[in-house]
Amino acid sequence: MDMTATLHDLTVAQLGELMVQMGEPRWRGRQLAHGLYHEGTGDLDAITPLPAALRRRLQQTHGLTRLVEVGRRRAPDGSVKHLFELADGRRIESVAIPMERKRWTFCLSSQVGCRMACAFCATARMGRVRQLTAGEMVAQVLALRRLHPSSQQANLVFMGMGEPLDNIDELEQALRILSDPDGMKIGARHITISTSGLVDGIERLGRMERPWGLAVSITSARQDDRRRLMPVAAQTPLEEIVAAAAAYGRKTRRTVTLECVLIAGENDDDDAAKALIRVASSGPFKINLIPLNPIDGYPGRPPDRDRVARFADRVRKARLVCTVRDSAGREVSAACGQLAQRSRRPE
Ligand code: SF4
Repeated sequence: MDMTATLHDLTVAQLGELMVQMGEPRWRGRQLAHGLYHEGTGDLDAITPLPAALRRRLQQTHGLTRLVEVGRRRAPDGSVKHLFELADGRRIESVAIPMERKRWTFCLSSQVGCRMACAFCATARMGRVRQLTAGEMVAQVLALRRLHPSSQQANLVFMGMGEPLDNIDELEQALRILSDPDGMKIGARHITISTSGLVDGIERLGRMERPWGLAVSITSARQDDRRRLMPVAAQTPLEEIVAAAAAYGRKTRRTVTLECVLIAGENDDDDAAKALIRVASSGPFKINLIPLNPIDGYPGRPPDRDRVARFADRVRKARLVCTVRDSAGREVSAACGQLAQRSRRPE
């Protein structure tokens, strides 16, 4: 595939720079950004404040990142999972989830496939096929805004296919574009990155000095469970991951979410809850429990409701904030990668 940068790969400042290089005034970059991000057009030719000759040149040198919707599935709670085809024919998924007070959350993919090999995840079966470009991450937001016109105020979570911190260069660029006050204007506090625990990536995010939300999918606080359930992430001792997450939380003054996909008989017992409480009490953390979304090819099942409630109760009794992902969300949304499972079946 042609991986040359498109206009969606560039920040507003870089668009201005590009205009200068093309012999145009720098402010044309802001006109371009207005058309791309404020009006959200998917057609360069619709940005009529730009001279037609310039539009033609840009089409030849850069063009826009194209995402074509090739499937969709709506859950009873109103969430909609969209299957998008990229320019090279690869497919990714993004989910639009309606929240309270007319807000939306968009769940975005960061890679095609993933190399982290978590046992309970459908995306893991694909391996890492390729990285998404920054433009492909940005284009997911633009496409979802177009498909859900009432969703201009959406929060973003990088929790779809892929491990975002395994694609940190493109992720950083996407974050700059998405949060650009002259561009897409999405505040850092409205963007959350979910990771299986890549310490270098957490540290790099911290060095951006912006209060991005961070969620770390630890799944269990017991190292044996982690080795079984998330073998690649478990190569780093949990203490190191948790220390990096705590440092990030203190630096950004944000509570970091520790996520656990709960699997019956694997990591849902009292001892697992105790271990989790110990770890979560060591820093600015809250807990999110996600009952497993069963997938083909993995025999695990979610714990029954009572067991999840008991687990959550124990955690709350230790004075930790603990949320449980509800069953409606289970239909289409997901833990990191829990999302991909149905795209490989016929839509
Ligand atoms: S759960 Fe997330 S990190 Fe693990 S394999 Fe799936 S996409 Fe990758």
